[in-house]
Amino acid sequence: MGIARQALLWASRNRWLDEQFRGRAFARRAVRRFMPGEDVEAALAAAVRHHELGLTTVFTLLGENVETRDEAEKVTAAYLDLLDRVRDRNVPGQISLKPTQLGLDLGSETCEKQLECLLERARPAGNFVWVDMEDSTYVDRTLDLFERARRTHDNAGLCIQAYLHRVDADLERLLESNAAVRIVKGAYSEPAEVALKRKRDVDESFFRLSTRMLRAVADGGTAFPAFATHDLKLLGRILEAAASLGVPKDRFEIQMLYGVARDQQIRYAREGYRMRILISYGTAWFPWYMRRLAERPANVGFVVRSLFR
Ligand SMILES: Cc1cc2nc3c(=O)[nH]c(=O)nc-3n(C[C@H](O)[C@H](O)[C@H](O)COP(=O)(O)OP(=O)(O)OC[C@H]3O[C@@H](n4cnc5c(N)ncnc54)[C@H](O)[C@@H]3O)c2cc1C
Repeated sequence: MGIARQALLWASRNRWLDEQFRGRAFARRAVRRFMPGEDVEAALAAAVRHHELGLTTVFTLLGENVETRDEAEKVTAAYLDLLDRVRDRNVPGQISLKPTQLGLDLGSETCEKQLECLLERARPAGNFVWVDMEDSTYVDRTLDLFERARRTHDNAGLCIQAYLHRVDADLERLLESNAAVRIVKGAYSEPAEVALKRKRDVDESFFRLSTRMLRAVADGGTAFPAFATHDLKLLGRILEAAASLGVPKDRFEIQMLYGVARDQQIRYAREGYRMRILISYGTAWFPWYMRRLAERPANVGFVVRSLFR
């Protein structure tokens, strides 16, 4: 892992930097590249614009590792409000949440209750809830949480990280119940015992997981793959595999982040692929923003330019 990436991932966990950075106007200007605004209305307005371009949206309220049940309930209330707004405006917008933001650190029961509440509200509107995957210490608990939720709700999908050594076994487990699975490379700093270190290996793992899911769909399964990457070369290989396996374009989707590879997002939508954009909002953007910078340390240039604007 490069030094710049390591430093940015270290910064993402530093509370002092978080407080310093978030108060600065230049930092708020820079982060705008990756989020339309801090408030929910800015996120909804961006989703409406997406809809006009043939793109769909998945919203995420930024934040992680809440420390009290009260905080977890506040997050749930905010997502419930968002689900209602999405339904009332008739914008195609799912939600994606972090288990620790719903209280996973306080115990699985607290988190499970919040998640169920959201799944319950989303279901009648035909809406869907994605569960993010956080650092490797949470993987077992997140899989258990997801599987328990799926026993009563089929409107949930889970993220898996291609860099983890354990990921193939986790995918097999999820395929048994035909789950919707979002495949990502992985955004956290993990030790070599836990995760692959070379980009080439992570890319191959992503491709292997993707083709495994596509094959399950081609064989008549109802699993739903979501390929969340901006790696156009890798995506090209996956789309070729989908076509050669005869998997129709509406049986999977591509997911990307707001503000990254925008022209490509529109191109994929025009070519008939289901293209979903993750829009983040909220004030707790520092750790998330540092991880985005770590994905492409050249993005730090935007921060520096914002400083002088
Ligand atoms: C919808 C969605 C949901 C996600 N959910 C999770 C999750 O739950 N858990 C998790 O660990 N990770 C999650 N991620 C992040 C993921 O793990 C990767 O860190 C991130 O997608 C970058 O990897 P990449 O696949 O785009 O490939 P890379 O090889 O990192 O990048 C491919 C190309 O895209 C460009 N690029 C990538 N990221 C950026 C960026 N931020 N800014 C500008 N250019 C960029 C690179 O410069 C490169 O040219 C999610 C990503 C997306 C899109």
